[in-house]
Amino acid sequence: MIPIVRPSHPRLAEFDTRFDAILKSGKLTNNGQYVQEFEAELTKILGVPTICFSSGMAALIAMLRAVDVEHGEVIVPSFTFPATPHAVVLAGAKPVFADILDDTLCLDPEDVERQINHHTVAVLGVDPYGLMWEPPAHWGDQIDVLIDSAPSFGSTLNGSLGANRGRAQIYSFHATKVFSTMEGGCLCTSDHELMEKAKRIRNFGQDSDGAVTEFGFNGKMMEICALIGLKQLETFDIRLASRVARASALRQALDGIEGLRVQRAPAGQSPNWTYQPVFVEPEFGKDRDTVVAESHKRDIMVRVYYPACHELACYSPMNKHMMGFPRAGNNPIARLSVTRRLASQVISVPVFDDMTDQEIDIIAKAFREIRG
Ligand SMILES: *Cc1c(COP(=O)(O)O)cnc(C)c1O
Repeated sequence: MIPIVRPSHPRLAEFDTRFDAILKSGKLTNNGQYVQEFEAELTKILGVPTICFSSGMAALIAMLRAVDVEHGEVIVPSFTFPATPHAVVLAGAKPVFADILDDTLCLDPEDVERQINHHTVAVLGVDPYGLMWEPPAHWGDQIDVLIDSAPSFGSTLNGSLGANRGRAQIYSFHATKVFSTMEGGCLCTSDHELMEKAKRIRNFGQDSDGAVTEFGFNGKMMEICALIGLKQLETFDIRLASRVARASALRQALDGIEGLRVQRAPAGQSPNWTYQPVFVEPEFGKDRDTVVAESHKRDIMVRVYYPACHELACYSPMNKHMMGFPRAGNNPIARLSVTRRLASQVISVPVFDDMTDQEIDIIAKAFREIRG
């Protein structure tokens, strides 16, 4: 079987003494030694002050709460993992969906600008599959630009990791991501005040003296996850280079199948290829769902990812959180045409750091066979 992800983690023997020391000290969480070390390493690597969270989702909610989006509207792509709009709702704001561009799969700046009004408090862009969103530089003067870069740790844009593309951004270290601490995430920002607020939100709204100054939750990373993260950093560059090369070999193998559009890296980018998205176009002769079912029959666990979030039941205009939406003249049914088309055609094909030529062959042969 070819699974959708094949994560690699250090063996226990590689960190058992340090793990024992954590257990002996009794300091298992609450901003312990390893979380602080991991944060210092990440800050060095990303070039932007960084703090850790229990998950990417926790970092996302804390980031949105820290910029005070409550009761406002936040513009997000509909073509994303549902965590993106969910975080907006959980932070007390309303998500307004904007369309994406066909070639980058990222927010279409013109459609975003059409959705901005006096309720808008932030734009939350996404790095789909590790492709990097490039927000127009002048937006930052007018509105809070935030980035859900959950899947893009290790991707580069003109040689930079791009952790400073907005006022703040987050990464996920979930087991399905390219860099994993099993569960985990981080928030990066050069805005000191925002960072201090996010730290309080991460710890039930308490400041360092224990005074509760705002509504927070428990978003803290455990020491064991930080320890795994530190260990993972030692081999990350090598694994990432291998992954990028394997993804390129996979694209080459999938090329030339009529009706199967294989996503490329936008100019200047080296994505980490969290997955390899392909689009089943009409010329393929079979629809996407058939291709997925046929792949699963052949034990290739491709995934339908991302969905069009505005089509999910909880984002129906009838849902109480979406009350008042769509705004007049802003009916998502008539809009979001690129999102609707691509979400109906997309398949995420697995990429592993250590994907073999044989696995790549099996996948390419299967797509050729399914097309017939
Ligand atoms: C994975 C992912 C998340 C959630 O991250 P977790 O660490 O699993 O909470 C959020 N947004 C996007 C775009 C993701 O891919």
